[in-house]
Amino acid sequence: MATNVLPILLLGAGALLLAGRSSDDEAGPTVTPTDLEGLQAELNARGVTDFTAHELTWSNHVDDNLIPPPELMPNLLKAADLAQRIRTEYGKPLAVTSSYRPEPMNTQVAGIPNSQHVRAAALDLTMPSGTATTQEIDRLRMIAARMWLQDPSFHGLGMYDSPPGRIHVDVEHPGSTGRETWPVDRVAPYLARAQAEA
Ligand SMILES: [Zn+2]
Repeated sequence: MATNVLPILLLGAGALLLAGRSSDDEAGPTVTPTDLEGLQAELNARGVTDFTAHELTWSNHVDDNLIPPPELMPNLLKAADLAQRIRTEYGKPLAVTSSYRPEPMNTQVAGIPNSQHVRAAALDLTMPSGTATTQEIDRLRMIAARMWLQDPSFHGLGMYDSPPGRIHVDVEHPGSTGRETWPVDRVAPYLARAQAEA
């Protein structure tokens, strides 16, 4: 009799596994991209149409693509979603100047020690050189400020002068801390304007 119990238990476990898998499939993709091709397919599926897998993973520092490990890939995808929303509203090309920066690279490029780039949760975006007029910089900053106010998962917003018009954006992820903007003096007037419009 004991020999008949085991197959029944195994069948039961198999049915549970199958049930679990099918409900995951309904919830969305379960495969984490591990290469450029997989990442591009996932970006296409999410509607990230203005940034390629290549540019979202390109590192000037190593002159190669850096694919985040699977545990950090969801962060990059979320950051790509945010970048696409900004790009769509901006309506003109934006280039990715910095993405995933594992240590010790982050320290080597003088990134801040707790940079969200290390977690693949951050992207730096800038307008192509020659298009960064005062008016365009102001417009991009306002779009980012408005979005930061409206979306609590938009965690960090930085506004830089070099290259002109560059913004840093990062997203909420497991292990992220509080929301921040910097430099506070530069971002505050944009947030105030965005708030006044609302
Ligand atoms: Zn950055």
